[in-house]
Amino acid sequence: MNSTVRIRLVIRGAVQGVGFRPFIYRLATELGLKGWVLNSAQGVFIEVEGLPETLQEFVRRVESDKPPRAFIQSLEQSILDPVGYTTFEIRHSEESGEKVALILPDIATCPDCLREIFDPADRRYLYPFTNCTNCGPRYSIIEALPYDRPNTTMKAFTMCPKCREEFENPADRRFHAQPNACPECGPHLELWDEQGHCLAQHHEALLRATEAIREGRIVAVKGLGGFHLMVDARSDSAVRRLRERKRREEKPFALMYPSLQLVQAHCEVNEAEERVLRSPESPIVLLRRKQVEAVASSVAPNNPYLGVMLPYTPLHHLLMHELGFPVVATSGNLSDEPICTDEREALHRLAGIADLFLVHNRPIARHVDDSVVRVLLERELVLRRARGYAPLPVLVKQPVPPLLAVGAHLKNTVALSVGNQVFISQHIGDLETPQALEAFHRVVTNVKELWEHQPQKVACDMHPDYLSTQAAHRMGIPVVPVQHHVAHILSCMAENELEPPVLGISWDGTGYGTDGTIWGGEFLLIRKGSWQRFAHLHAFRLPGGDRAIKEPRRSALGVLCECYGEQAFQTLQSVFTEQELTALSQMLRRGINAPITTSAGRLFDAVASLVGLRQVVNYEGQAAMELEFRLHGITSDESYPFAVEQTSSDAPVVVDWRPMLPELLQDAASGVPVGCISARFHNTLVEMMVAVAKRAGVECVALSGGCFQNAYLTARAVQRLREEGFRPYWHQRVPPNDGGIALGQIVAASVFG
Ligand code: ZN
Ligand code: ZN
Ligand code: FE
Repeated sequence: MNSTVRIRLVIRGAVQGVGFRPFIYRLATELGLKGWVLNSAQGVFIEVEGLPETLQEFVRRVESDKPPRAFIQSLEQSILDPVGYTTFEIRHSEESGEKVALILPDIATCPDCLREIFDPADRRYLYPFTNCTNCGPRYSIIEALPYDRPNTTMKAFTMCPKCREEFENPADRRFHAQPNACPECGPHLELWDEQGHCLAQHHEALLRATEAIREGRIVAVKGLGGFHLMVDARSDSAVRRLRERKRREEKPFALMYPSLQLVQAHCEVNEAEERVLRSPESPIVLLRRKQVEAVASSVAPNNPYLGVMLPYTPLHHLLMHELGFPVVATSGNLSDEPICTDEREALHRLAGIADLFLVHNRPIARHVDDSVVRVLLERELVLRRARGYAPLPVLVKQPVPPLLAVGAHLKNTVALSVGNQVFISQHIGDLETPQALEAFHRVVTNVKELWEHQPQKVACDMHPDYLSTQAAHRMGIPVVPVQHHVAHILSCMAENELEPPVLGISWDGTGYGTDGTIWGGEFLLIRKGSWQRFAHLHAFRLPGGDRAIKEPRRSALGVLCECYGEQAFQTLQSVFTEQELTALSQMLRRGINAPITTSAGRLFDAVASLVGLRQVVNYEGQAAMELEFRLHGITSDESYPFAVEQTSSDAPVVVDWRPMLPELLQDAASGVPVGCISARFHNTLVEMMVAVAKRAGVECVALSGGCFQNAYLTARAVQRLREEGFRPYWHQRVPPNDGGIALGQIVAASVFG
């Protein structure tokens, strides 16, 4: 197999007029790479083709060997199929296409600013709002365009003569740095008690906040795009108190570490992971922990990974420098609500959760959560796209009419298309609470205003009950409903620049199907201008409908019932009470409140329950994750039997998992380790994908949906599909979960709508 690939880099920052293009030319030529470099209003675009190792070296050296005056604010990397370049050239700037103002995401503190805040001789010594043209707040302070100080939340601060001089001097690092500030003229810190009384100001406030954290107290810290709740991650009692108060039982907490060295001491960090940790985006990176005792066990119970980030604002650098140990840094909210952004509101919403409030007087224009990234197959896989990434556009090949997409229900984001750019909003969250719905409406209004664009149509999910769907219908413009799993696949195709025909494997927990049943184990054939449900997993009933999401044992009951009928009820006697079992068996017998589903996510749940791993979950996807965690250290190519059948030539192919069940139950009963059963189960799912891909006979296979957050499943699917001669694609910059649905809806509305 020819392993040449193409990478596209979009680099934004101080890279224009500093000899950047000649540098790229020399580097590419030296490494023997083919492609081009182009300067445009949107940034510097680079495409290079070559072997993956050489390309990796190229990317590394773009960062390490760049010209002295160049500064990279964001570096987006996509790995694509090669197109066969034969030379490397400097292309001339394109001025074609719609001009769209570029709004930069917030950028982590640059090395120059970092040096200043720790230099006692500098006038910005210990100043937590230090920034320059290369770093600092952007998206979180912009109220309107153009990006000038009066249009930001810095408008209330008048620059002092020294700051003004920097701002006006073209030779200065702070020339036209809109949020420029110093201790004389900029925002300042205050420490508040629960009533909002000021206890201390300036650096004293920060020192007293760190004291409180050291004592095990919970401090709400107003950061860049919202509040964090911080506690000492080493203190089990402090972390447990936070869990109780926040009403978050087991969902892992993110951590902020004082240094990369300490992260490396506690977690395994490979080169790609290190790059992401230190990047201008500075997201939370999922890392495998080395030692379980590094932090309190209540930080991430039963989880071999830690979600880790490094300080990304001067405030965080100063705090973490003072503390010297990792802290929990979780969103300042009650579980499921959007992150809190205003200090007065925080006093009210975080009352009873935080003991103290470390706040400042620079308003936050919009909430921007921390992004979450996992490195998979040596590439970035964004699981939550917010700070550092939003609102950078995803470029699509063909210009798209002005459309708005409102996303799905969980992990909601919205998107707006302008020309061939699709702007995906920051993560909004699950539309479960009135606060989340309010945030959704705010973001929708906001994206239309920011880009001054009136969409002609609105794309939404096909599910009639989603609040996002209902909101779309009230907008007064034509509505294009898009099937959920089609949206998943189109978003993966857009990101990877795939042309039909493509076989899309769209696996997740829940999505509304065109036949009114719940889909979730779908194989979709995408052709030019149309799509077809080529195959799906064998369907089963979910007793109690949505309640099954919280109780994997209900999926287990549905699955067993599908195999063994009435006998199933006896098998699960131990995990239900007698009354529960009577009620559920009634539902299943009569088919009332027991919707039909083909969901792969629920099949994961069923298996987790059947092997005794988990009967009830505390958060979405927990059972499937725990099943994945058990795989660690197990290498197995074994799988269970399954069947592929088709009843008539125009009906979808059905992948029947029922033949798997007797062996799986036998394994569980005879004490085969859960990890081995899990490996066989995962391998079986991958073999199902291979079998369907062979039937479909389409070379390109796109993997999308929440199940592909699972690293083992994705990596093995990619490996096996490649072995069988297929070309598999997965997500990179856009989440495989429902956070990517809005992008897919835009594409669907433009090609099918
Ligand atoms: Zn800076
Ligand atoms: Zn100043
Ligand atoms: Fe989904």
